[in-house]
Amino acid sequence: MAHTDFRTNDRRSLAISDDLRRGNIAAIARALLLEGPLARAELAQKLSLTRATVTRAAAQLIDVGLVREGEARRATSGRPMVPLELDGSRRVVIAVHLGAVELRAGIIDIEGRIITHDVLRYEGTSPAAVSMLVRRAVAGLTEGMSPQMTILGMGATIGGWVDPHSQTIIRFDPLGWRDVNFVDAIPDLGYPRWFDQIVRGIAVAESLFGVARGHQDFVVLWSGHILGSASVWGGSVQRGVRGGAGMIDHLPTGRDHPSCVCGQSGCLGMVATDQAILDAARAGGIPNGGVDSLRSLFRESGEDARLSALIRERAADFGRAARVIAQLRAPELFVIAGLITTHSEYEREFRRALHTGAGVAADVEVRRSEFGGLATIEASAALVIDDYYRDPMAFEASSV
Ligand SMILES: [Zn+2]
Repeated sequence: MAHTDFRTNDRRSLAISDDLRRGNIAAIARALLLEGPLARAELAQKLSLTRATVTRAAAQLIDVGLVREGEARRATSGRPMVPLELDGSRRVVIAVHLGAVELRAGIIDIEGRIITHDVLRYEGTSPAAVSMLVRRAVAGLTEGMSPQMTILGMGATIGGWVDPHSQTIIRFDPLGWRDVNFVDAIPDLGYPRWFDQIVRGIAVAESLFGVARGHQDFVVLWSGHILGSASVWGGSVQRGVRGGAGMIDHLPTGRDHPSCVCGQSGCLGMVATDQAILDAARAGGIPNGGVDSLRSLFRESGEDARLSALIRERAADFGRAARVIAQLRAPELFVIAGLITTHSEYEREFRRALHTGAGVAADVEVRRSEFGGLATIEASAALVIDDYYRDPMAFEASSV
């Protein structure tokens, strides 16, 4: 019976073995990205594969030029270990981020290194005008690019409410967009295109190249022009119905402050955006004359005790709101991101508010994103790069 099944399912068995082979290749490439150079024996142990399987899969990765052998390490006993290392410098991705007032674009390799990037102010905010600007930005970046490099695809992100399944930007207030199809804003330049909401992109980037590298279960909390969160669960970013997961503007801070458009008071969105903080600083007379960006506020009033008190208050607001997420999700880790989180007092106060009281929130680790001003470029590229490491051979046309 079993024998007959094997025969009749021959084609299917072949397909499964091909999937397995590609899965092993993907697992090895991803391990080398996340952990750096590893010898074949170390990969076998880490991935629970046989040495023979690792050797075969590694040969294919070496064959396509994604992996090379490094310098032999002296082993404590036995033969020296030859580590395998990624050579991702010739495979690149075009990254595009549609911001509130400007467009950022860059070229980044599949190990997360930014090769070049640019910032362009919008000249018009219609999808067609933005699409033209994307075209110009990409042409500028790719001009004179080394012919040695292969562009694997183009990843693009935007804030607001984005539904990747229906390819729709449901709502992005800074550009006044409602129900805009991605393809109207991101032109077809002959490369495969990826698109998602920016905070979800940041989460993917953090898991590949950032402070959540290798984590399967964490939440990114973003605080900037917009607020947002993105939850990675079992290694996959969660999108929710119509891509609506992660909006945190109406989480309760537990404090009584100005009433929100939603009709409640104490909503996080009323106190934690950059604009809310600038407004509060201005109302509190910090600094004299007023400024129009958080960066200027930090520059001009970095030493002002009133600013420190304001930042501590807003960090605690976010920390208390994050407790709600911690109770629901119990993640291993929160990654906090955005310019405000770089203030010297922010992280400690956020952590203190999150960890106060009983329950799982007290155990969640907190790390600050290290991408800085390049987070949006890393995020956009990560959409493509994550897919690459899920099945490198699908991208390596010559070897499929
Ligand atoms: Zn609200």
